[in-house]
Amino acid sequence: MPVTLPVSLFNSPFWDSIALMLGHLALVIFSLWLILVIITVALFVVSVRKKHLYCPWLLRPAYLLLKGAVRTGCRMFGIDDTEIITILIGLENDVNRDAFAAVPVGERVVFLPHCLRSAKCPAHLTPLGIKCLDCGKCGLGMATNALTGAGYQVFIIPGSTYIKRLLKRFHPKAMIGVGCLMEIKQFQELARKIDMTAMGVVMKSDGCVETTVAWEDVFAVASIGLETKIGEDA
Ligand code: SF4
Repeated sequence: MPVTLPVSLFNSPFWDSIALMLGHLALVIFSLWLILVIITVALFVVSVRKKHLYCPWLLRPAYLLLKGAVRTGCRMFGIDDTEIITILIGLENDVNRDAFAAVPVGERVVFLPHCLRSAKCPAHLTPLGIKCLDCGKCGLGMATNALTGAGYQVFIIPGSTYIKRLLKRFHPKAMIGVGCLMEIKQFQELARKIDMTAMGVVMKSDGCVETTVAWEDVFAVASIGLETKIGEDA
């Protein structure tokens, strides 16, 4: 006599259809994820190759969402992390541009790294950073004069701990940071964390001493929202 097995809860047509539906849903989610990764990687690759940002409104949120997969995909096309970070810094600056322009210059500060100094710099470190003597041995004297002349507070600092301390002390509404790629990335992360409008300028060469920056880039950023362009007669 044939034995009739009881229909278990998970062995019924109802659960079969649920499992099938979940399978389809997973497939749809995976397909969407894959499409978004492919589009984001393509945008990064084209942006790096053409030196122009394509769909900036999509790049940053998509990167934050799919960081690992996008970085792997970009590496397959020869785009390294440095190029990705450069693009993201540019994006962050673009996002902050209007808010930065709206802040009066008297409420803005500039943080310059002390590694821009000459190796023979005669200035000393103070609680407000390096007190430049404008000796002419490096560009910091000229830049500090141009920026303070426009109304900025300028600090030449040896590290990010100074940034936090000076922000607490002076309460600016916006800031410009100059530094190497990773410093500017961290600077923008700090700004986001404390809800501060920030613009970053990446130096031309980095290291510990006598680094270089394109002062015209610093002045261009510092001039955003101002009627007079800084450094034109510097
Ligand atoms: S210009 Fe200022 S920062 Fe540069 S070497 Fe002279 S004192 Fe130092």
